[in-house]
Amino acid sequence: MSTLKFAVLPGDYIGPEVMTEALRVLAHVAAKENLTLSYQVADVGGAGIDNHGKALPDSTLALAREADAILFGSVGGPKWEKLPPKEQPERAALLPLRKAFNLFANIRPGLLYKDLLDASPLKSERIPNGIDIVCIRELTGGIYFGQPKTTTTLENGEQQAVDTMVYKTSEIERIAEVAAVTAKARGNRVCSVDKANVLETSVLWRKVVVDYFAKNHPDIALSHMYVDNAAMQLARDPNQFDVLFTENMFGDILSDEMAVICGSLGMLSSASLGTGKNSLELPFGLYEPAGGTAPDIAGKGIANPCAQILSAAMMLRYSFGLDAVAAKIEAAVRKAVTEDGFRTGDIAFGKPTVGTKAMADAIIANLG
Ligand code: NAD
Repeated sequence: MSTLKFAVLPGDYIGPEVMTEALRVLAHVAAKENLTLSYQVADVGGAGIDNHGKALPDSTLALAREADAILFGSVGGPKWEKLPPKEQPERAALLPLRKAFNLFANIRPGLLYKDLLDASPLKSERIPNGIDIVCIRELTGGIYFGQPKTTTTLENGEQQAVDTMVYKTSEIERIAEVAAVTAKARGNRVCSVDKANVLETSVLWRKVVVDYFAKNHPDIALSHMYVDNAAMQLARDPNQFDVLFTENMFGDILSDEMAVICGSLGMLSSASLGTGKNSLELPFGLYEPAGGTAPDIAGKGIANPCAQILSAAMMLRYSFGLDAVAAKIEAAVRKAVTEDGFRTGDIAFGKPTVGTKAMADAIIANLG
């Protein structure tokens, strides 16, 4: 019997509500698949600030270090918005976690079921069968972290600010590998997004990607696209992509564009994989819904738990190597929302709605 050891960090507002349901789904799957769940729950974000004085309490970080993966809810909300930016829950919890575990690869499936076309702002004739793509963003390099990063006063009194975009070969190769592995489990097509007509880092990015795929993955169909064109193509015909991958800032923007064309945040999961291997020799990862804490609907029992449940499925796939079990959860979610017609308010579009728990019940029922 395998033991799945993970840290559960529910966070704030709807975070704990949807996390409760994801844990119920995991418990059901574990019983059926002869798996043992070994997890502890800890405060993070606003809950960390309120109960321990900081968004990422030392005890929470220590717990995460003991685990093979982190199942994360979402953090932040109006209660903590007046704090200085550096102390706010998202920045003070997620950035240190990314740093502590070197979470360099953010994987976001862009999945919109055909039955939920109304959720997308795109015209349905552009996406007659929904959307099924993956966006992979480099998360620890590039202009967000490069040095120098300064604001100075020039001799004439003007102010000047500098950010620095930096990439080295090894950083590009490791994200290229994540894109390749992801594509092999799907349509075997990868599009690398850069700005090689202008940026030095992109010239290197493209060269390294070309060499890396030629040497290691010659069977994958590799293409390249400038980021401005990629932004347009995502809105014009998203399904032309299978897996697209890019550097940190381009990925920040494109992954959010992808979320919006896929409709409800309540359906979108994500994984952030680290450089380190866990005790199973698989990637350590942090798994979380793409959306935030949704304070506007918190406490009402109406949040959509699907994104959190799909994030748990990603955890099983990447950090525990349980691909088939993950696929069963994904199929159960799809069936509940499509064939069975269960809809939380965010994906209802005039149809009758169910609450958070009833949606999870429907998913559990589909797992048999
Ligand atoms: P949000 O994603 O929380 O909400 C945007 C809209 O989407 C809201 O109308 C909300 O009700 C809806 N929504 C989101 N998730 C849903 C779900 N599971 N079910 C149904 N509807 C859902 O974004 P926001 O309002 O801009 O941010 C709220 C707080 O969340 C802020 O404090 C922000 O900093 C934080 N946040 C945290 C994370 C994170 O923890 N990674 C990410 C984004 C935002």
